[in-house]
Amino acid sequence: MSGKSRRDFLKKTAIIGAGVTGLSASPAKAAPKNILSADRMGVLVDTTVCVGCRNCEWACKDAHDLPAGELFSYEDRKPMEFRRRPDHTALTVVNEYSRGKNSNLPVDVKVQCMHCDQPACVSACIVGAFSKQENGAVIWDTDMCIGCRYCLAACPFQIPAFEYDKALDPLIMKCDFCFDRTKNGKLPACVAICPVEALTYGPRSELIKVARNRIKRNPDRYVDHILGEHEVGGTSWLYLSSKEFKELEFPDLGNNPAPGVSESIQHGIFAYFVPPVSLYALLGGIMWIAKRRKELKEEEHV
Ligand code: SF4
Ligand code: SF4
Ligand code: SF4
Repeated sequence: MSGKSRRDFLKKTAIIGAGVTGLSASPAKAAPKNILSADRMGVLVDTTVCVGCRNCEWACKDAHDLPAGELFSYEDRKPMEFRRRPDHTALTVVNEYSRGKNSNLPVDVKVQCMHCDQPACVSACIVGAFSKQENGAVIWDTDMCIGCRYCLAACPFQIPAFEYDKALDPLIMKCDFCFDRTKNGKLPACVAICPVEALTYGPRSELIKVARNRIKRNPDRYVDHILGEHEVGGTSWLYLSSKEFKELEFPDLGNNPAPGVSESIQHGIFAYFVPPVSLYALLGGIMWIAKRRKELKEEEHV
């Protein structure tokens, strides 16, 4: 565990400790760091340009040391018919849909975390492990995560996955917007590899202008909708399409930010299911076990 994470962990433990001693009966509130910078970055996914080569899937796995998996033959388009979802072994997947407006070609749709501007996962995380970063990425600190999986329940796009098959130290997994690359000025791995520039990385505000311009210049090619411009309060990843987005199985979520939903999940938990003091004690216990497990693992590697 890094020094900062350890300090943060101790700080959180101290807060929970105060709850355990019964000093406060109010619920433990997550303290998410939700930075909404005007300069935040995004990716524009133009599904009318995507050719379904799945290089992005490969690059994402490669950048995150994930296994290639059984369904992974890139010449084979069969896996794309299964309506796959991102999971702990594939942070992004490309699915195929029947042809779009004025085209005989199938519509290929890359799916990953949308990096919401008002992320429900951030709001749902009771220990503040999730955060929205200044560059637009929604990331999480694996050292702080206690594995409660509220983020899974809260995400309106059903994105975070959990390593259920790992007995030791299962982690939450999702697209991290290649944070280690982008914070150092590199492109996300999927964007860098896309051979047809179906993915454009740039300031979100500029991407919206580019998207509007494409729709205006090609009204027969696109539906007049930039998915993510307003949905759930806006997202860093934006989509253009030749088909209505509901036909591409994007959920119809409206424009209200989703954290309201996750906050009611939290409030429901605190109000009806678990008395706060017991919950603090439980969380303190879980965090102590997680910390001890990590320390033992670190000692094994010394
Ligand atoms: S690499 Fe680009 S063209 Fe290929 S599947 Fe991914 S988004 Fe589509
Ligand atoms: S899509 Fe889900 S996991 Fe991604 S930022 Fe939004 S709420 Fe969080
Ligand atoms: S941004 Fe990075 S983590 Fe997210 S889908 Fe692309 S390659 Fe994967």
